[in-house]
Amino acid sequence: MTYRPEDYREPLEQAARAAREWLDSLPSRPVKPREPIDTLSAAMHLPLTEQPTDAAEVVAELARLADPGLMPIGSGRFFGWVMGGTLPAALAADWLVSAWDQNNGLRYATPAAAAIEERAGAWILDLLHLPAASAVGFTTGGTMANFVGLAAGRGAVLRSVGWDVNRDGLTGAPRLTVLAGAEVHSSVLLALRYLGLGEPTMVAADPQGRIRPDALSAALASVDGPCLVVLQAGNLHSGAFDPMRESVRLAHDAGAWVHVDGAFGLWAAASSRWATALDGLDTADSWATDAHKTLNVPYDCGIAVVADPAAVRSAFAAHTSYFVRDDAGAAEPMDLVPELSRRARGIPVWAALRSLGQSGTVALVEGLADNAGALAEGLAALPGVEVLNDVVFTQVSVSFGSDDRTVRVTQALLEDGAVWMSGSHWRGRAVLRISVSNWSTDDTDVAVAVDAVARALAAVTAADRGDPRE
Ligand SMILES: *Cc1c(COP(=O)(O)O)cnc(C)c1O
Repeated sequence: MTYRPEDYREPLEQAARAAREWLDSLPSRPVKPREPIDTLSAAMHLPLTEQPTDAAEVVAELARLADPGLMPIGSGRFFGWVMGGTLPAALAADWLVSAWDQNNGLRYATPAAAAIEERAGAWILDLLHLPAASAVGFTTGGTMANFVGLAAGRGAVLRSVGWDVNRDGLTGAPRLTVLAGAEVHSSVLLALRYLGLGEPTMVAADPQGRIRPDALSAALASVDGPCLVVLQAGNLHSGAFDPMRESVRLAHDAGAWVHVDGAFGLWAAASSRWATALDGLDTADSWATDAHKTLNVPYDCGIAVVADPAAVRSAFAAHTSYFVRDDAGAAEPMDLVPELSRRARGIPVWAALRSLGQSGTVALVEGLADNAGALAEGLAALPGVEVLNDVVFTQVSVSFGSDDRTVRVTQALLEDGAVWMSGSHWRGRAVLRISVSNWSTDDTDVAVAVDAVARALAAVTAADRGDPRE
């Protein structure tokens, strides 16, 4: 097969057209997939043809087949999980990442990609007030960013008791204790599992889900040997931040490594509004966050920050002879993450930050929190609605009375399709959980969301009364 420039033209134009149609449909489209998976699978049940299909035709067909089953995650009325949308500059930059097809592992081999990611990393450290000499790695997401921080910590605390985990593994190693707040995110549990560290010892949390320093202090007192402490910046249900300065001090006094899971909440550090809530954040040893959540770059991109670059390089650097290094001193992109081959996913981060600027990034984060506050206020005014958390960031957890009622209101809301929000459980109760993480959510979206919840609530109330109109 021979390369001809025109081979790319039509498929790319088709893709741009389909992308624009999709994006243009977001403001008016119901916020749910139109068809369920079974219908889509049936429609897509095509055999792999014997003969090739024209590339432009493939793209057009793909867009047509996918459309009924796409979830409008980029809609300003999508409030499910913590997802984030896509800033225009980040999306366009992501297309370039695919066109450039750089395997960003080594600085000398893909210098532009490495340089852009290094700049993006420096901007992030500056914005979030993290130690300027930290290593920054771009991972697939928060789960792997947690994995990176905890892997660096595992190596460091074992090294401090004379054990080389890279050489000798965990078999026969000194027992390593992991302490985590009771509301630790499940991805941290996964990362610990990948690391062979098993389940952490849970430390009691307060009613907002924040780790309790008194309980942490007691837990640390009974630890004998190497220890990792996992803190959280941004609780999924309350948005709350663990008390950083005191927790880190207690952990460091006990010789522990402190990792902070800030998948969506770490971005609060960009704004002085959360300076008190996050006081002491910079004293931890490693931090994980996502760019595909609060920063609104397309999937996927997580960010792993480790204060001591040697600790993360020790965990991930592969000293194989075919990886020619241009400079013995500088960390290679592949030294900072689990992957060797990978997409230059830090480039959309660069584009997002460059397009927002410092003030735009702060405004983005504060705007999400403002919208969450407005939503909570609107919902609290509805009959029988209880906002269960102190709304301190982007998350709102709501009950409609009994668990049964809350589940039914959530179902009615999702069927309605004006907005999308997640059902969840928090502190023993069914909740409707709202996450404001899309850059484009505005006052109208907030009003539409409150109206949609009011409609769902009214429908369930009417059904409970046996109202024949429902
Ligand atoms: C989303 C999330 C994670 C996991 O991040 P992924 O990008 O989904 O891997 C970890 N911690 C918290 C608090 C999260 O919200």
